[in-house]
Amino acid sequence: ALILGLESSCDETAAALVTSDRRILAHRLAGQEAAHRPYGGVVPEIAARAHVEMLSPLIAAALADAGVTLADVDAVAATAGPGLIGGVMVGLVTGKALAHAAGKPLIAVNHLEGHALSPRLSDPDLEFPYLLLLVSGGHCQLLLVEGVARYRRLATTIDDAAGEAFDKTAKVLGLGFPGGPAVEVAAALGHAIVPLPRPLKGSPEPHFSFAGLKSAVVRAHDAKTWAVEDIAASFQAAVVDCLIDRTVRALGQAGKVTALVVAGGVAANTAVRTALSGLASAHGLRFVAPPLWLCTDNAAMIGWAGAERFAAGLTDPLDVAARPRWPLDPGAEAVRGAGV
Ligand code: ATP
Ligand code: MG
Ligand code: FE
Repeated sequence: ALILGLESSCDETAAALVTSDRRILAHRLAGQEAAHRPYGGVVPEIAARAHVEMLSPLIAAALADAGVTLADVDAVAATAGPGLIGGVMVGLVTGKALAHAAGKPLIAVNHLEGHALSPRLSDPDLEFPYLLLLVSGGHCQLLLVEGVARYRRLATTIDDAAGEAFDKTAKVLGLGFPGGPAVEVAAALGHAIVPLPRPLKGSPEPHFSFAGLKSAVVRAHDAKTWAVEDIAASFQAAVVDCLIDRTVRALGQAGKVTALVVAGGVAANTAVRTALSGLASAHGLRFVAPPLWLCTDNAAMIGWAGAERFAAGLTDPLDVAARPRWPLDPGAEAVRGAGV
């Protein structure tokens, strides 16, 4: 099957054409960094307006790149949440209009399912069940991925997401926006010599916490005794430590899995990938991480999640609602803070 995927939940507008045999016929993406940079973060109104302007031309370009028309597409998959509601609406309404006009089914994709299944797009050998560390701008979770639409959340953050911690740290250190790549570059020039906490490391509860680490970065920066690069390196080392500690704990709870997998924007970080790869081999597990461009937001992962859902017979009515909040595991208990 050939799926048109659309993504617009945050500050990337994207369209892609993906087949169920894992061919990415086209993927187009427009970032909005320059528009948001003056504000030091994503401004929802600016994002929504940019999605309106960019999405249609990107879809046209992707169809042209792939050498297909809407009539060749078997289904339209659009992100329906979670995310900034204005942007989600733009992509979902566009997807509905195209599906209706072409007489094709609509697939309302959970953006997190896009991240969660993206490793199966890049790695044809990745089978269920796998343990997934989903680390992105809005989420930090350990999920047992049992199948398409079958997720069991083992842990989440009780305050900030991992990517959010990178972004806030970049802001404090004056490294700019977007923060994750900037912190990684600075960290490569520094040494992890600044004492910083590892919140919840070794805790019997399964969850993550990064708010205290960010506060400690603020104090270290205010002390004016450390180089920015050394704080960045120390911060990154602390995040990696926490991610590994919590993942080790989850491996003990997950039962038998085929692989340790990482996805989401923070999975583009080399220190994170290297540490997880080491952990996997220590446990005799395969390690799977998508290529960097597939870790951060894109429409290929939405098209692929659409392809997986389409194969499972999961399509949606044209009146399906956009959902600003939409947990992958609806059965998971609420925890303190914002984590879902
Ligand atoms: P969510 O997927 O939770 O809805 P999002 O879509 O905004 O949030 P992603 O696009 O998946 O998030 O990831 C963006 C996040 O990844 C940002 O917080 C960014 O700083 C972080 N990130 C990107 N590259 C790197 C990197 N090299 N190192 C660390 N963090 C990174
Ligand atoms: Mg982004
Ligand atoms: Fe994302």
